[in-house]
Amino acid sequence: MADPKGFMTTPRQDWPRRPVEERVRDWDEVYVPGALLPIISKQADRCMDCGIPFCHDACPLGNLIPEWNDLVSREDWRAAADRLHATNNFPEFTGRLCPAPCETGCVLAINQPAVTIKNVEVAVADRAWESGFAPPRPPERLSGRTVAVIGSGPTGLAAAQQLTRAGHTVAVYEKDDRLGGLMRYGIPGFKMEKHHLERRIEQMRAEGTIFRTSTAVGRDVGAAELRARYDAVVIATGATAWRELDVPGRELAGIHQAMEYLPLANRVCEGDLEVSPMSAAGKHVVIVGGGDTGADCLGTAVRDEAASVTQVDIYAQPGAERDEDSDPWPTYPKVYRLSAAHEEAGVLRTAPAADADARLFAASTLRFTGDADGHVRSLHLVEVDAQRRPVPGTGRTLPADHVLLALGFSGPDRADGLVDQLGLGLEPRGTLTRDAGFATNVPGVFAAGDAARGQSLIVWAIAEGRAVAAAVDRHLTGSSRLPAPIGPYDRPMVV
Ligand SMILES: Cc1cc2nc3c(=O)[nH]c(=O)nc-3n(C[C@H](O)[C@H](O)[C@H](O)COP(=O)(O)OP(=O)(O)OC[C@H]3O[C@@H](n4cnc5c(N)ncnc54)[C@H](O)[C@@H]3O)c2cc1C
Ligand code: SF4
Repeated sequence: MADPKGFMTTPRQDWPRRPVEERVRDWDEVYVPGALLPIISKQADRCMDCGIPFCHDACPLGNLIPEWNDLVSREDWRAAADRLHATNNFPEFTGRLCPAPCETGCVLAINQPAVTIKNVEVAVADRAWESGFAPPRPPERLSGRTVAVIGSGPTGLAAAQQLTRAGHTVAVYEKDDRLGGLMRYGIPGFKMEKHHLERRIEQMRAEGTIFRTSTAVGRDVGAAELRARYDAVVIATGATAWRELDVPGRELAGIHQAMEYLPLANRVCEGDLEVSPMSAAGKHVVIVGGGDTGADCLGTAVRDEAASVTQVDIYAQPGAERDEDSDPWPTYPKVYRLSAAHEEAGVLRTAPAADADARLFAASTLRFTGDADGHVRSLHLVEVDAQRRPVPGTGRTLPADHVLLALGFSGPDRADGLVDQLGLGLEPRGTLTRDAGFATNVPGVFAAGDAARGQSLIVWAIAEGRAVAAAVDRHLTGSSRLPAPIGPYDRPMVV
């Protein structure tokens, strides 16, 4: 660190967000462009070089955080970019999208606001691109071995980049028309603009990775055929089988799954559609599910110019501070968080049915009722206690003509036939079975990311992509020099 007293003299300052009234009128990222770089070196200087960096351990990628904080505080951007890319293939994705468990594990966070690690990460990544510090790194020689990666989300992309750089010939099969998985057709542009994705994919093409879009393995190309054609197969197909809400009235028109709604909004931004056929414009929107997917629906509905929007969460509102008994430092605590989307809820033309941040906590949906045309008009709910038991006398009805279900995902979507064609084993919760070395029950076939881990995070997807690449490299050549983050890969989402 350039200044050993930086943490005492410099207060935490986050990358400022654009004014709400301005940003809800477009789909661009919510941050003020260019406002991060002038503040970030001083922010990196707040890292106190504590000696035992819990942040490094809290990051699933094992990012070398104190090292690049020091380099950024000294404005050695090239070295910082090298240290960052040593552990993370796509820091511009995590720097925008990660919930940053590193920051809740920061030693400074014991009694002060943490170092803005995530902001430092994104600043290094963006600066690396601007300055040419992230060139393609094609392999020096080819191994003659071939690998098929199925799925182009962060897991598949990270695995493919590592294996290509190790000299193998890698083809990525993607059933969508564009690459990127949930980063393309799930996560809205206001969280991450898609040009970040394009730039990495171009880098990967230049390194030699082959991409086959609009090709569903199991449907457009047989899974067994693929297995016979390649020396190894990596399944990185994600976990997009959504959970249902089995209550009376679910069959009414106007009730959609979040992942039916969000991809259409993304397609409007891509220029494929002029208007989304599921646009929430002028409608009373209720989002069932309190998680991040629900928050993405909220931000999208606000930009659609919904009449009102309410997000219903079955869990009670968490406290503002960490509960030291249940969530002691350095764990990732359950606390009240105000996402950019929640900040935006107040701009709607009519007041939302809930609080200013549009959320109704500790509420459970009982049923939907509709009009004579079979279209949903109301959502009936009740307050629940900590054991999710209804609290008598708390029934309430919300106007709802556009309902979005954001209740999570159970495992890989099996409609394409890939799982059955290969005879892949499944865990009771629906995810793919694999051993500690990422191998499935089918020889030469490996599984990683949400497909095997269950619904998780970009940072875990990249970590698994890097780790499965090392496992495949070992399988193909008997040893591997590819770095792999240290698990635990057998544990479902920890954040
Ligand atoms: C709406 C939403 C918002 C999210 N926001 C965040 C966030 O802000 N931060 C964060 O860290 N995480 C977020 N997540 C979670 C994160 O996106 C996932 O954990 C991550 O994308 C998983 O990566 P993956 O590569 O394993 O799978 P995916 O990203 O799901 O990619 C799988 C790919 O495989 C393809 N595929 C599937 N079957 C086949 C087949 N048979 N043949 C060919 N291709 C196939 C799919 O089309 C898809 O492109 C969000 C998730 C959702 C749903
Ligand atoms: S990837 Fe996530 S946990 Fe790791 S350093 Fe970046 S923000 Fe922190």
